[in-house]
Amino acid sequence: MRAKWGKGVIVVMYIDYSKYPFALSQRELVELYVERPSVLASRDATLREKLSIIVKEIIERGELPYNACSSIEECVLLYYTILDLAKAIGDKWFQNRVALVYSKYASRSMVQESPEKLLLLGRKLGLEVLLVSGEPDIPKIPMVSKSGKVVRFVPCEFAVSVLSYLRVVSRRLIHDQSYNLINNIVKNGYVYLDQKTYQRVLEEAVLNTILSTIEESSPPLGLEEFTRLVADIKKLLVEGRREQYVEPIEKEKTQVAVKIELKSGELPIIEDLFPPCITRIISILRSGGNPSHVERFNLAAFLGSIGLDVDSVLEYFKTSADFNEKIARYQVEHILGIRGGKKKYLPYSCEKMRTSGICPIQEQCKGGKNPVAVYKYNIRKYLKTSKENKDADKAAGGI
Ligand code: SF4
Repeated sequence: MRAKWGKGVIVVMYIDYSKYPFALSQRELVELYVERPSVLASRDATLREKLSIIVKEIIERGELPYNACSSIEECVLLYYTILDLAKAIGDKWFQNRVALVYSKYASRSMVQESPEKLLLLGRKLGLEVLLVSGEPDIPKIPMVSKSGKVVRFVPCEFAVSVLSYLRVVSRRLIHDQSYNLINNIVKNGYVYLDQKTYQRVLEEAVLNTILSTIEESSPPLGLEEFTRLVADIKKLLVEGRREQYVEPIEKEKTQVAVKIELKSGELPIIEDLFPPCITRIISILRSGGNPSHVERFNLAAFLGSIGLDVDSVLEYFKTSADFNEKIARYQVEHILGIRGGKKKYLPYSCEKMRTSGICPIQEQCKGGKNPVAVYKYNIRKYLKTSKENKDADKAAGGI
């Protein structure tokens, strides 16, 4: 097996920064612009208008508008301005939304790219990665078709250093067992990935890069024009989220309270008694965060298992940065056994939650070996204590 594009090989290749603006580093940016992007954009009426169009689309549709900028320079300039605005506004939901929209947009563009271009993109994102060649020695993984009848061998041409790989996947992807090192080909400090998996890792690297760029950015808060721009974008954010997100959050609180009274014959829904793993996922969602696919699955399976219907489960997901009602409803209906094979899923066992990195505590919760059993135990204990307290109050009143 030999590495193509290893050290010492010079290949001229260009990156289209209109698709991948995050790949242009802050240092390269300084060479392109006399002033910083957010200063330029806040002083130019045309750029401000374009900025509003892009931000509106990001908030309302979770997309980047087609042909919103007229040149590569403009795309990069507007991208860095949006990042400065996201930092200045400080809304976690908006920051995650921006990162998700740009990473998904990049991911769709990556499908058209050559392996060499994907390699370059990975390196631009700070990954230590090689493109391997050398048939027939190139590592291959067997993939079984859906019917189970055809097996094809997929080449793993991308070798990412274990360190780079873990840095990218440790935030969310690692919850999915298929990204665990023991389920991948690891040799001489490199993880070997097929193109599809490498692209997914790149998408995650883009998301992480954007979020840390927002974190590290220092917007020109002293500039009057920029402060006015921040106020305009805040207005768009409030208007855009009012329709889609604010109302559902308020509705959710009352719904949960009503459920406790209405479902007297069933398991009462008391969020304070949810186990820590579930509470953690809910708090990520409520702070506008972006839980992993596996965390979302477990939350939906837990809520469905304790008796919530599809609409009530969806209320929990409405605050996520990438919420799409149509897709979310379809997935929740699957998990609750209303669609597809009509199989109702349970959340993972505590042991699997732990190996997937979703259990946030060291000890085992009391009451069982899975979150539903633990919740039932918490409820029984709560009801018993409430009854004992009532009896004690009665007895005290009788004296
Ligand atoms: S021990 Fe089980 S129920 Fe408790 S937090 Fe961990 S995974 Fe959840």
